[in-house]
Amino acid sequence: MEAGSRQLLTDCKKWREIYEIRIFMSCSVQLYGSTAYGYPFSMPLIDTHCHLNFNAYKDDLDAVIKRTLDAGMRVINVGSQSSTSKRAVELAQQHPGKLFAAVALHPLHLFETYVNEVEIPFKTREEVFDPKFYGDLAKEPGVVAIGECGLDYFRVPEGVDVETLAKKQKDTFLQQIYLAQEHNLPLILHVRASKEDPQGAYLDLLEVLQHANYTRGVVHCYTGDLDTARKFLDAGCMLSFTGIITFPNAKDLLEVVKFVPLDRVMVETDAPYLAPQPVRGQRNEPLYVQYVAQKIAEVRGLQVSDVEEQTTANAVAFFNLGIY
Ligand SMILES: [Zn+2]
Repeated sequence: MEAGSRQLLTDCKKWREIYEIRIFMSCSVQLYGSTAYGYPFSMPLIDTHCHLNFNAYKDDLDAVIKRTLDAGMRVINVGSQSSTSKRAVELAQQHPGKLFAAVALHPLHLFETYVNEVEIPFKTREEVFDPKFYGDLAKEPGVVAIGECGLDYFRVPEGVDVETLAKKQKDTFLQQIYLAQEHNLPLILHVRASKEDPQGAYLDLLEVLQHANYTRGVVHCYTGDLDTARKFLDAGCMLSFTGIITFPNAKDLLEVVKFVPLDRVMVETDAPYLAPQPVRGQRNEPLYVQYVAQKIAEVRGLQVSDVEEQTTANAVAFFNLGIY
């Protein structure tokens, strides 16, 4: 392990001691009233995928960042198009070593389409991938990955046939794999399959990665089946889980959570979306990644602190955060 990584993990252990004291204090405080966050921490986590760079935080971004950093957490803000990628880089540079950035063009932004997300509906603008623009961003300090990029067959824009959609997405994805390779960065992979073929998009994405001979990626918000998970693990990819694993209908997915070796797992919120069960329906934020770690611990019969320690170490190594 590099010296920087070791330092970051030592810092995390220090935080853990502080938070163990806080747990004691919060238990005492609970006798008299509620605690600041409603649950105690045992160790700071790294939210490896969220979007504090999105408009959902425009009114209280400073407060959200403050409570995240006060908890000792670190965060990777992920871009989805040119504007949000740029914003992620700005945030990383305002909070060096604490907030990090990933930059890329999300497959949803290749066509103009209305996205009816349960929590926050939005309309996407059409953008053409500009390798020069994203290449310049990739060189900026604080950029630790190319992402999120990949394939999304779930939403087919009106007037576009599925083949055209898939071809354009695969071409754009391939260009971004080459960008990651060129800058020696890992990939944050977005996959959303169609209802009719729940593994199809995953298998297509894996094929593109293998075609490019670059599988240094994390499949963000993994919701595929066990067999597909095995294929990604065999290819050398990491899998990352969101609050979806806390939902009551996540039974099959929990089989995957149980199966994946813990040193191949990362945790994330995908905030502002996908708030975990205890806070479901609210705007999500990095602090709530704790509920994802708790669920992993529960289904695997581990201590939460073991999951926290290992997923943090995984994220530090995978994104090379120790150099900051
Ligand atoms: Zn995302």
